Amino acid sequence: MIDATDLPSREHAQPHRKAVLMALLWITLIAGIVFATLNIRAGNGPLAMVEIVMATYSVFLMWAVRRTRHLDRWLLAYSLPFFSAMMFALYVPRSTVSVFGWILLVPILSHLLHGRKLGLAISLFFTGVATAIFLFKFHDSPIYMKPIPLLNMGILTLCILTFSHVYEVSRERSENKLLRLARTDFLTGLANRVMFEEVFEKETHRAQRELTPLSLILLDLDFFKSVNDRYGHEMGDRVLVHVARLIRKRLRLSDLACRFGGEEFAILLPDTHIKQAMTVAEELRTTVAERPLVYDGTTISQTMSLGVAEIGPDGSTLEDLLAFADERLYLAKGKGRNRVAGPQWLDAETVSSPNS
Ligand code: GH3
Ligand code: MG
Ligand code: MG
Repeated sequence: MIDATDLPSREHAQPHRKAVLMALLWITLIAGIVFATLNIRAGNGPLAMVEIVMATYSVFLMWAVRRTRHLDRWLLAYSLPFFSAMMFALYVPRSTVSVFGWILLVPILSHLLHGRKLGLAISLFFTGVATAIFLFKFHDSPIYMKPIPLLNMGILTLCILTFSHVYEVSRERSENKLLRLARTDFLTGLANRVMFEEVFEKETHRAQRELTPLSLILLDLDFFKSVNDRYGHEMGDRVLVHVARLIRKRLRLSDLACRFGGEEFAILLPDTHIKQAMTVAEELRTTVAERPLVYDGTTISQTMSLGVAEIGPDGSTLEDLLAFADERLYLAKGKGRNRVAGPQWLDAETVSSPNS
């Protein structure tokens, strides 16, 4: 069964990455103009040229990033040329050793922009290239090849790389945990409505693309108020957890069960026609009816009524499907509860009951 951990967190990590990128673009633009002016005055033409190109490119990226739906690509379109320009600045003969201080920015920026995996790979690559350039430029310079300053620089770079990586790993972990909580019903552990709507959106697009069926079951526990009244609210909660567990056990991995609120649940069944969905609904109905909750010597029987709808014949939006499923659910309630109701065109099969 799909659960709240299945949604990629990358989508949700985008806003902070976009903000970091916009800040960097402004810094690159301003720094590009200032350093290009200084380098032109100092007669360092090639470096000034690279800085002017980076500043112009930043203006273009500001325009593109505001419109894009593929931020990942633009993040790379910034960081790879930016870090390459930095390597060029290290390489040109006239640049001073102080420029190597900029290397410390690479692990921080690449983790902020690309997350833990790609961030680490990019950091390792560019710090490796910078080390090679440093050794190439200064290997025969006794001032710079002293072991203690070299060791200091190496350890400092390693520390910043480690801290950036550890921070990003724990940030992603907490973010995933919060996202999971925001999509889960706290009582039953099933998906909540937020997640249901997201998954529905994805699954309807897939169903349209691949021409596959998609069905929905809406179910409501029968006379649940009397369970609360008779056994207390806590026991009512235990019944909800028990029913959720039974539903979860019966479903396929690709199905999604959700607690819609109160004692109402919805189930999304990808690759499932209405007739198959009616069969699943009927099995759920009998399972719940036949397996009462036994807790602390008390046995509580529970039944439920179910309404089924399919995308296509019953409309194309979640609202359409819910409206039809709800109408059928109340038809099932009206006919005496503990039954499944489908569309009228299924005719004799429309309403099943414990006695049919
Ligand atoms: P019907 O067969 O018509 O659905 O009757 P019902 O009693 O199930 O329906 P009604 O809407 O009258 O009552 C629903 C009850 O569900 C009322 C409310 O106290 C209870 N309920 C809603 N959410 C929770 C919950 O989180 N925990 C518990 N224990 N009870 C809940
Ligand atoms: Mg009810
Ligand atoms: Mg209800």
